Amino acid sequence: MRDFSLDIYRKLLETLQRKGYRLISFAEYLRDVETSRSQDADKYVILRHDVDAKPENSLKTAQIETSIGAKASYYFRCGKESNHPSVIKAIVAFGHEIGYHYEDMSLCGGDIDKAWDHFQTWLEYFRRYYAVETICMHGAPTSKWDSKDLWKKYDYKSLGIIGEPYLDTDFSDVFYLTDTGRCWDGYKVSVRDKIPGHQDEWTKKGLSWHTTQALIAAIERGNMPNHVMITTHPQRWTNDKAQWVKEFVFQKTKNFIKRILLMMK
Ligand SMILES: [Zn+2]
Repeated sequence: MRDFSLDIYRKLLETLQRKGYRLISFAEYLRDVETSRSQDADKYVILRHDVDAKPENSLKTAQIETSIGAKASYYFRCGKESNHPSVIKAIVAFGHEIGYHYEDMSLCGGDIDKAWDHFQTWLEYFRRYYAVETICMHGAPTSKWDSKDLWKKYDYKSLGIIGEPYLDTDFSDVFYLTDTGRCWDGYKVSVRDKIPGHQDEWTKKGLSWHTTQALIAAIERGNMPNHVMITTHPQRWTNDKAQWVKEFVFQKTKNFIKRILLMMK
């Protein structure tokens, strides 16, 4: 089975379910925490998707999740590379959560007041399709602006937003996995998609795998914490061979550039 194919994505989710994990959206996680539903022994995985590009690929992952009774959160960017109303509507119909993958600080050149206006406009836009209650930063590795800086002055909770994964997840309790870099140990090259302060601890415990096959094997062995957030970028998960090769080459190049960016910091 090829890595980063839809077949292996399905296998990953099915393995988690077989091992007793509930597959939930980020909003569900926040609610479970608030109502103290989730206990230490309760096993769950928050499924988060950052729709950076190729939104139509998200239809496939959404379909797989719905077919096995899983719920996920899909974060869309405002730009045309991500924001396809037909895809958003279909994913809402599949029963998943929709959120805004915001990058207003980088789009507004670091002008915080302009970014706040921009943020509100696009939040309203996405709320035409879904009652958006969570948002998630787009990392934009090549931008010098960190879009989370918007919250140094403004408060998303004033707009009825209940959470932001980077800011409202208790990472002392929830283990974080992301496919950034097209592997599961890409935090080494990631500019913003990482959890400082906790990553070293997880790596020390051996909670680090490169391939999805290795990740699945670890779940099978029970070598996985009870509470996990998994972030994937559906654009890189495909059964289409030509698309798969393109994504493979593109990511190798991108990781090389990110390594240089990190070295220059
Ligand atoms: Zn993103």
